Amino acid sequence: MLGLMQDWPLLIHKIIDHAARQHGARKVVSRSVEGPMHEIGYADVRRRALRLARRLDADGIRLGDRVATLAWNTWRHLEAWYGITGIGAIYHTVNPRLFEDQIVYIMNHAEDRILLLDLTFVPLAEKLAPRLTTVERYVILTDAAHMPKTSLKNAVAYEDYIGEADEDFAWREFDERTAAGLCYTSGTTGHPKGVLYSHRSNVLHALAMLPLEAIGLASSDRVLPIVPLFHANSWSLAFAAPMAGATMIMPGARLDGASVHELLETNAVTVSAAVPTVWLGLLAYMEQTGKRLTTLKRVYIGGSACPRAMTEAFEKKYGVTVVHAWGMTEMSPIGSVCHVKPELGHLRDDALYDLKMKQGYAPFTIEMKITDDSGRALPEDGKTFGRLKVRGPAVSSGYFRGEGGNILDGEGYFDTGDVATIDPDGYMQITDRAKDVIKSGGEWISSIDLENLAVGHPDVAEAAVIGVRHPKWDERPLLVVVAKPGANPTRESILAYMEGRIAKWWMPDDVVFVPEIPHTATGKIQKTELRKTFEAYRLPTA
Ligand code: AMP
Repeated sequence: MLGLMQDWPLLIHKIIDHAARQHGARKVVSRSVEGPMHEIGYADVRRRALRLARRLDADGIRLGDRVATLAWNTWRHLEAWYGITGIGAIYHTVNPRLFEDQIVYIMNHAEDRILLLDLTFVPLAEKLAPRLTTVERYVILTDAAHMPKTSLKNAVAYEDYIGEADEDFAWREFDERTAAGLCYTSGTTGHPKGVLYSHRSNVLHALAMLPLEAIGLASSDRVLPIVPLFHANSWSLAFAAPMAGATMIMPGARLDGASVHELLETNAVTVSAAVPTVWLGLLAYMEQTGKRLTTLKRVYIGGSACPRAMTEAFEKKYGVTVVHAWGMTEMSPIGSVCHVKPELGHLRDDALYDLKMKQGYAPFTIEMKITDDSGRALPEDGKTFGRLKVRGPAVSSGYFRGEGGNILDGEGYFDTGDVATIDPDGYMQITDRAKDVIKSGGEWISSIDLENLAVGHPDVAEAAVIGVRHPKWDERPLLVVVAKPGANPTRESILAYMEGRIAKWWMPDDVVFVPEIPHTATGKIQKTELRKTFEAYRLPTA
């Protein structure tokens, strides 16, 4: 027997309808790419999204067509997502930090018909345009007054583009499983692959993120999504914040420590989310200037492992709660969030921070398991590590155009490529990427554990650990360190700091100092590059 409830499709435009009706005056505050701060209420965001929808529709953009964005976090980018999806077209977020060849590849692969781009990216687009074979028109996210002279095909200022349409338009209705968003993975091996979100997956994921057990947003919150819309679906904040009616503070192009601090303070931000690199910049700025944080309550840190020293600095020095989170583009993207369950509420000091180092437990809609290489489930004892696999209604079932073939196991789980432990309380901890784990004498050493420990040394700014060939052990860990400005740590002092805090056989065989560690387009340490650099490195133990 079927239930007798209405079939209300989970469509993205219902989120902005709700925000406009219940929180119409609540603001989206942006640092515009042109410079000045800008404010707009959700009711007007919706009106402008409707205009864009109408205009795209008039231009012949149809259900399933791809409209690309190359843009920072601003109100225009936000309303574009709603306008594009409101007619059943697909927003394709292009990460401007990808290599040029990769941008060309993904835009041609996606067959993007229109590109909406910020002023910042006009020179880049002009350079790539001759190779972008499917783009019919370039819409520059600015007004006529700021419109540059450009060779881009059919270029138009966004304000003129939507100005030609009115908002007397009804969102299209279609199946909730219709594709809504396309985001390519960073593609560390081979070409990037397209992750294709649906209306249903985005709405369900945002709903799952709203409780305090996940990201936790209320209409009284003032959220600063530093994590870009072009990285992993904005960690769902473009949907979850309007759903909650929270004020959004959009940071635009400037993500350095001073700019972030200014935004946090002048806009009374209560919640923010970013990768560790951004927070490193903010913490360094506050250390240099002696500035404080007066309104911020919680920061979500993910994308790569949050170092313990960062959690302790935020919590002990600045009184801001750190919530460590893990996820990936393929998971819409949040897969785990590290809140302290009540039964662990007694934990203090080191024990508490040991817990907070973990990536946390799965919120509702995510199921996870760890397995060995043959797919056998491994014990969840907090010690055994194995391949982390996940399933749920906002987890990929395959890649765009079938790239990569079948990506699910017999039980419908997706292999994340991460290696993790799960403890009896359900907390998952990433020990490595499957391809970065160091295999020493048949046993695994977690490069992330070593990195987290090394950055606890007061003179270390950033650390990366890679496996280097060893005649006896196959691989042994090499610690690569960037010193803090003005500091001169020695190999000996760093090793002495680590000694006793990890198993003896996990100790790095050597330490090298570099001016800079290479990062990927999404801010992760580029281990492939490091491994290349140190390919022929001879360890003193070899
Ligand atoms: P992306 O799809 O670019 O977001 O990358 C996803 C990958 O980032 C994951 O599979 C992890 O390897 C890594 N990652 C994300 N969050 C964390 C975290 N909190 N700790 C460690 N690794 C993380």
